[in-house]
Amino acid sequence: MRIPYERYFDLRAIPQEGMAMDSYEYLSQVTASAVENAPIWDAHTHLGTDTDGKTLDADGLLADLAKFDVTGAVVFPFNDPDQGEDFHVPNERIFAECAPHADRLLPFMRLNPHGPWEAEYELCLARGHRGVKLHPRAQEFEIGSDLVRGIYKRAADDGLPVLVHTGYGMPAISHDVATVAAALPHLKLILGHASFIDMPRALRVLKPFPNVYFETSVVRVYDLFQVLREVDPSRVMYGSDKPYSSSTVSLQSMGIMAAMAGVPAERMPDLFGGNLLRVLGLSAEGGRG
Ligand SMILES: [Zn+2]
Repeated sequence: MRIPYERYFDLRAIPQEGMAMDSYEYLSQVTASAVENAPIWDAHTHLGTDTDGKTLDADGLLADLAKFDVTGAVVFPFNDPDQGEDFHVPNERIFAECAPHADRLLPFMRLNPHGPWEAEYELCLARGHRGVKLHPRAQEFEIGSDLVRGIYKRAADDGLPVLVHTGYGMPAISHDVATVAAALPHLKLILGHASFIDMPRALRVLKPFPNVYFETSVVRVYDLFQVLREVDPSRVMYGSDKPYSSSTVSLQSMGIMAAMAGVPAERMPDLFGGNLLRVLGLSAEGGRG
């Protein structure tokens, strides 16, 4: 693919003199003011504790969101040491942490397809978790395996999106994702980290499936550029993977790459929150979408 050098000199991507590249001002410039005129929503954050030692609490998350005026975030458990066989404890904890900020922090349940997931699914659904998070490497299953089909099916029937990790530690996943998306066209399948582990094949193989979304947390800029260049902006979602990244870094890279990839100004609000809100069945403020 030819790199469109002329876009590097698009005024949107060049900071005005004296404008810091980690400033809200610059973010507003690269997004053609989308971040000022439409709500920003983050599709990928964690609360609690991970087996790798990372932690984040609601105050820390909200403080990071506040730096760039991010309206809200999808929240799910880490690979928590207290996950047991069904993530019951971390699912309950993150729900309780999100509850005082129910209009801003939207909890997803994390499930382990090897465990007795049905009861935990029912409980979380009834409690108000808004979607499902799956991690094929941490919970050791394949995206297309029969083991996990039941979860996709239930989520699709209940209208809950499923966000599945497709980043570090994964093998080629494009054909498995395509098989799932084809079998369940009413499933809203969000690829955490935009399937960067299987680029560029994933973009070609998954293009025909409008129910597959690309969430952009911790995707390196050259892959991000390709996603923004080749995938319709209605299927791309901003995410940060906090605390593994920050709003500053994630918003900046998404904004700059979107400007360079030539995403039209009027499609920017979709990338930064509109698509996520639609997938969740919520409509963006101000009558968008
Ligand atoms: Zn994550």
